[in-house]
Amino acid sequence: MRRHYQKTSLYKNVTPEDWNDWKWQMANRITSIEDLEQVLSFSPDERQDINRGLQRLRMAITPYYATLMKPDDPDCPLRRQAVPNILETRIKNSESRDPLHEEKDSPLPGLTHRYPDRVLLLVTDQCSMYCRHCTRRRFAGQTDQALSINKIKMGLNYIKQHKEIRDVLISGGDPFCLPDQRLEFILSSLKDIKHLEILRIGTRTPVVMPQRITEELCTMLKRYQPLYINTHFNHPTEITAEAELACARLVDAGIPLGNQSVLLKGINDCPYIMKKLVQRLLQIRVRPYYLYQCDLSEGIEHFRTPVSRGIEIIEMLRGHTSGLAVPTFVVDAPGGGGKIPVGPQYQISNSSEKTILRNYEGVICTYTEPEDKSHTCRNCGICEDFPEYEYRGLEQLYREERIALIPKSNVRMKRRAMNNEFGQA
Ligand SMILES: *Cc1c(COP(=O)(O)O)cnc(C)c1O
Ligand code: SF4
Repeated sequence: MRRHYQKTSLYKNVTPEDWNDWKWQMANRITSIEDLEQVLSFSPDERQDINRGLQRLRMAITPYYATLMKPDDPDCPLRRQAVPNILETRIKNSESRDPLHEEKDSPLPGLTHRYPDRVLLLVTDQCSMYCRHCTRRRFAGQTDQALSINKIKMGLNYIKQHKEIRDVLISGGDPFCLPDQRLEFILSSLKDIKHLEILRIGTRTPVVMPQRITEELCTMLKRYQPLYINTHFNHPTEITAEAELACARLVDAGIPLGNQSVLLKGINDCPYIMKKLVQRLLQIRVRPYYLYQCDLSEGIEHFRTPVSRGIEIIEMLRGHTSGLAVPTFVVDAPGGGGKIPVGPQYQISNSSEKTILRNYEGVICTYTEPEDKSHTCRNCGICEDFPEYEYRGLEQLYREERIALIPKSNVRMKRRAMNNEFGQA
């Protein structure tokens, strides 16, 4: 990868010790237009536009990430993720502050409980770099600080009291902006909660400030297994020697690493860029986990592609490259419905005798069903390991007497209710 920082006078005299010290990277983040002018070239018009964009969401770019951006190319995929744009001031009707209703599903500040058995715990609103496409831009960078220890303790308490929670996803902001000590306090408090089975951290640090992934941090994290980390690479040029080292340290500490990319117009909305990205990720031992459709957060429409672009990308990955490289493409449903997988259709038709499928090459194949299609419960008792279990969604149709799931607003049902009221039913 070609490095550009040799060209920028700004970092000429920085010692390697400073450069490799994440505290130096944090302290020297580019946060103003004046700083930005030292590393990028732009016209006075562009200057004004950038300034307007940064009113919507704080700017911060680590010197490390800044040196990966092409200084003369406004369309550089890394630069577009980091540098504010005037388009961020345009807010569409379909967009909202909190499209995923993370706050409506929040019993406490910093905690979202959307799924039955897992919660999202936001521990800081600070990031080393603020992504311009950030979905949580209502929250990220608000104070550029950690959540108060009190709020965190309230979240921990909630988790303690809800025995159905078995998985806690620590996110933010970026949890790796916290000092080791604070992070360890959170991890060890969670580790003490007996009903938790796994912990997860969501972080962009390996991408935007790999210097943070120190040996000491990894030694600490190692004590809190099973711990899974998901990071956020969006473009193959983000996979540098530094990023690779950071990922290697985490994986060598026994922490499985996954990646969550966001599908971004003009950045990675091309099957070949995505193929390159996912294949490179496997080389650095990071397993592609999700590819997200860009959310309906305010001021990011210029990053959005149609959903069909993501489907097309998966079409060109599945079968064409290692299955391990293929993420699940999801739309995080506006209104808090959660992540919904979408993808190409492979099932063409289906009778009780045969399922007809097509493969990635377009070959149409048959799968012959077994003659005996019955299923019987073996009464093994494993299902009893899920106490106080309530059936959800289609599970209710399969497992209960219920014959239909009907939306509250269904007009026919309203009419039935009215008929009942008039005693005609
Ligand atoms: C994404 C998310 C999770 C985790 O979802 P998985 O599909 O289990 O990775 C949990 N809670 C919230 C609120 C989320 O947005
Ligand atoms: S790292 Fe995550 S939370 Fe922080 S700005 Fe980027 S997308 Fe938002």
